[in-house]
Amino acid sequence: MERIAVFPGSFDPFTVGHEAIVRRALNMFDKVVIAIGYNSAKSGFFSLEKRIKWIETVFADESKVTVDSYTGLTVDYCKEINAQYLLRGLRTAADFEYERAIAQVNKQMNNDIESVFLLTSPEHTPVNSTIVRDVIRHGGDASMFLPKGLNISVDDIE
Ligand code: ADP
Repeated sequence: MERIAVFPGSFDPFTVGHEAIVRRALNMFDKVVIAIGYNSAKSGFFSLEKRIKWIETVFADESKVTVDSYTGLTVDYCKEINAQYLLRGLRTAADFEYERAIAQVNKQMNNDIESVFLLTSPEHTPVNSTIVRDVIRHGGDASMFLPKGLNISVDDIE
């Protein structure tokens, strides 16, 4: 059976930290589905369309990666696409506490889905979408926090 992992998140925007987690996960799974959790009441900073397009650009040469969006519970989405694994990245103890609760609740809701955590590499520990958004919003150069080839600027803000 194909090993399919869902990497869920808001990816608002997708950063070098996210990219590194996906690239490492490719050695472990047959397919990685990067899934943008979408809440119509709370749209992101960048449009869903742009976020999807940016991630597709990053993995254009990687046939094992697909990009999708979903609404509702992440475990229901995993079941819908026959994914057995939920991939998340861990930076800090705060991430761990947050992720622990989500993973344990998810496990109670669907015992067939395993959460798998990859620890971030040291250079990516401080990278988070909120800070990258702030850099972009204020016209700073965010390129060092973004995957190669992605140019996101203040003009991309909705
Ligand atoms: P969410 O809104 O669900 O937290 P994010 O887009 O912020 O979604 O993050 C998606 C996943 O990527 C989370 O598991 C998060 O911990 C992880 N992540 C975010 N930034 C990094 C990073 N710099 N290094 C490793 N993992 C990261």
